[in-house]
Amino acid sequence: MLGQMMNRPLRVADILSYAEDIHGDEGVISSTVEGGIHRETYREMAARSRQLAKALFSIGIREGDRVATLAWNGFRHMELYYGIPGIGGICHTLNPRLPAEQLIFIVNHAEDRALFLDLTFVPAVEKLAAHFPKGMLYIIMTDRAHMPDTSLPGALCYEELLAAEDDGYEWPDLPEDTAAGLCYTSGTTGNPKGTLYTHRSQVLHAFMVCVATQDAMHTGRRILPVVPLFHANAWGLAHATPLAGASLIMPGPHLDGASLFDLMEAENVFSAWGVPTVWLGLMAEINKRGRLPEGFGEVVIGGSAAAPSLIEAFEEKGVDVIHAWGMTEMSPIGTLTKLEPNMQALPLEERLKLKSYQGRRAFGVEMKIVDEDGTRQRHDGKAVGELFVRGYNVMSGYYRSEESALDAEGWFGTGDVAAIRPDGFLCITDRTKDLIKSGGEWISSIDVENLALAHEQIANCAVIAVPHPKWGERPVLVAVPADGCTPDTGDVLRHLGEHLAKWQLPDDVIYVDSLPLTATGKVSKLTLRQEYADHKLPGMD
Ligand code: ADP
Repeated sequence: MLGQMMNRPLRVADILSYAEDIHGDEGVISSTVEGGIHRETYREMAARSRQLAKALFSIGIREGDRVATLAWNGFRHMELYYGIPGIGGICHTLNPRLPAEQLIFIVNHAEDRALFLDLTFVPAVEKLAAHFPKGMLYIIMTDRAHMPDTSLPGALCYEELLAAEDDGYEWPDLPEDTAAGLCYTSGTTGNPKGTLYTHRSQVLHAFMVCVATQDAMHTGRRILPVVPLFHANAWGLAHATPLAGASLIMPGPHLDGASLFDLMEAENVFSAWGVPTVWLGLMAEINKRGRLPEGFGEVVIGGSAAAPSLIEAFEEKGVDVIHAWGMTEMSPIGTLTKLEPNMQALPLEERLKLKSYQGRRAFGVEMKIVDEDGTRQRHDGKAVGELFVRGYNVMSGYYRSEESALDAEGWFGTGDVAAIRPDGFLCITDRTKDLIKSGGEWISSIDVENLALAHEQIANCAVIAVPHPKWGERPVLVAVPADGCTPDTGDVLRHLGEHLAKWQLPDDVIYVDSLPLTATGKVSKLTLRQEYADHKLPGMD
């Protein structure tokens, strides 16, 4: 028997309309590309998003059109996040850190009709425009006073487009499975692949994030997404924060430790979200100034494993660490560790242990681990296998791909290797492609990195597989020494040997000034593996 409740579609624009009605005085504070701080309430943002909707119609954008953005975290990018899907278009966020050939591939694959870009990216896009689809519209996200001289064909000015429209617009009803957003994964192997989010997945994902991070998600709280709007919905903050009525503090292009510290302090940021490399930078600044930014109480670390030493550094200073795991294909949040009060009361060491795991599933996400034959493994914290997921926020297939991305039971394979504990905590061992297979045994690169990062003379590191004639692969530690330090390799290996079996110890330690990063700001082990593919291990001639 069917129930008899109204079947109103879930729509992304309803989030902003709700924020306008209920949390109208909260909003988005942006450190801008043009310079200075811009403040906009959700009331203003909702009105401007309606103006934008009309402007999109005026320039010829229609339902189903892909509209690309190439922009930092800022208020205009947020308006695009609502205005484009609001009219039935698809907000296609481009990652400016991708190499030119990947951007060209993605824009053509998506067949974008228009590109909204920050001033910063005008020179780069001028070089790419000849390779983009014919008739592409270019809209520069600034006001008339800052419009540059540009060779971009017919370049339009964002603020002029909005100024020509009033805000009298009603969001159309769209089926809730209408596409709302598009984001390509960085494509470490092969071409990038697109995840096409729906209105339904975006709204439910926003609820999931709100429920899982309640300390931050309410009126009066200020949240800093260092995670970019240009990748995976800024971990859902683009939608969850207005829904909850908290305010967003947008860093724009200013992402170094000192700039983040200053912005957080000036704007009283409570919760900050980003990848470990960003937090290593902020932690160095905190140590330099000998204090935390005023009001800083929570940090969400995800995107790659948060090392226990980083978690400890924050916790010791009174900042609550939430370790999150997810992926683009999951909108992206899969698991989060918000410790319950009884866990929060545990001694530091036990708390740190729990937080070093990737957290527990968000509502709506189901997880299973399977062995190489596809047999389900127990959630006993010991059995390790590939992690599969399904849920409201999980992709069912890549954009314009014929191939199914799911297994026979309809689950999505994450490519991560993990165990799940009986209490629900997810423990990621590695990405399948980063695991090191030595003489038939697997070595977790994450485990070795976490231990190496606890060595006081190592600031950052990565463990990679190097080919070995006898063992197949052997681990090598690539390490960035802490400021002014020259670590002794024997001492580093002794330190690791306190916790690792001999065969798990790296065969070599290579010291570098910095580690290569992926387009999403994570350490690129692929680049390192390529760079050291011919590395001669000690004792091998
Ligand atoms: P990209 O490769 O484009 O950066 P994603 O942002 O979707 O793609 O990355 C998802 C992957 O990042 C996951 O499959 C996992 O391997 C890794 N990852 C994300 N969060 C964590 C975490 N907390 N611990 C370990 N690995 C993580």
